[in-house]
Amino acid sequence: MTETAPSGPSGRTAGGPVVVRTPAELRRALAGAGRVGLVPTMGALHGGHRSLMRLAREQADSVVVSVFVNPLQFGPNEDLDRYPRDLPGDTALCGEEDVDVVFAPEAATMYPLPQMVTVDAGAMGERLEGASRPGHFTGVLTVVTKLFNLVRPDFAVFGAKDAQQIALVRRLVADLNLPVEIVGAPTLRDPDGLASSSRNVFLDTAQRTSALALSRALRAGAEAAPAGAEAVREAARAVLDEAAGATPPVELDYLALVDPATFADAPADHRGEAVLAVAARVGTTRLIDNVSVTLAERDPR
Ligand code: AMP
Repeated sequence: MTETAPSGPSGRTAGGPVVVRTPAELRRALAGAGRVGLVPTMGALHGGHRSLMRLAREQADSVVVSVFVNPLQFGPNEDLDRYPRDLPGDTALCGEEDVDVVFAPEAATMYPLPQMVTVDAGAMGERLEGASRPGHFTGVLTVVTKLFNLVRPDFAVFGAKDAQQIALVRRLVADLNLPVEIVGAPTLRDPDGLASSSRNVFLDTAQRTSALALSRALRAGAEAAPAGAEAVREAARAVLDEAAGATPPVELDYLALVDPATFADAPADHRGEAVLAVAARVGTTRLIDNVSVTLAERDPR
């Protein structure tokens, strides 16, 4: 927001975004905010998040970034407690991206009661990430619905890095008639090909080198697309098989080529768009990545 703009959030200083912790503060900050764009995040912000904020900035009078490590989407043995948190650093980064409001609620503010009513993600929510992390997408869709109701954005930006998540959020909005537009942002990668992620800070140099096998496998798979679905899977699998023997090893959770509408496995004769998705552990860090591939229509001749 420029100072001369006709509308914008109240309370913002030249020094950076307004940081609000409660729904009441949020409503006050968003009085007269005009067209609102929301970027939901779990914080520990990096270049990938920046790219989402820039997309939002292009289309919004007011950009809201939510920073909330959502306990509902973590399983009992997952990394909720050690997930990186840095609200001062996140606020500074948001200032650099001309964000208007940072909404950083406490868990007790978002969940004052044990959550009884939740948003069920359905069959798509039980595949891939949902199979490895039972209940994960119910947690995601529930908090996204709450954030939409609290912020009331005109649009919200999500990254293709979490392909299954954005597909499910699109279905959430369609199936429940939520009055918000979903904007997708491409995956930002570091120069070596690793997809930017808050969890990358946990990787030491050797682990990071091993982790490059994920993006390498996806590239190999995408290059095999002209030869069909099975060739895509095999090319990616070959890279990951080799990485399983590296030091430190890449421990594969899943590699899948799926239909982007359902996240069910793409059959061998699948044509058109598909998502090649991978999840693996390097040391104690779980990483995910994906690419879109186009499986050509068979030549009718
Ligand atoms: P997170 O903080 O990991 O929950 O991510 C918040 C949002 O940023 C989600 O919509 C993610 O898909 C998106 N995001 C995370 N990493 C990247 C990346 N490398 N490129 C693009 N978007 C990303």
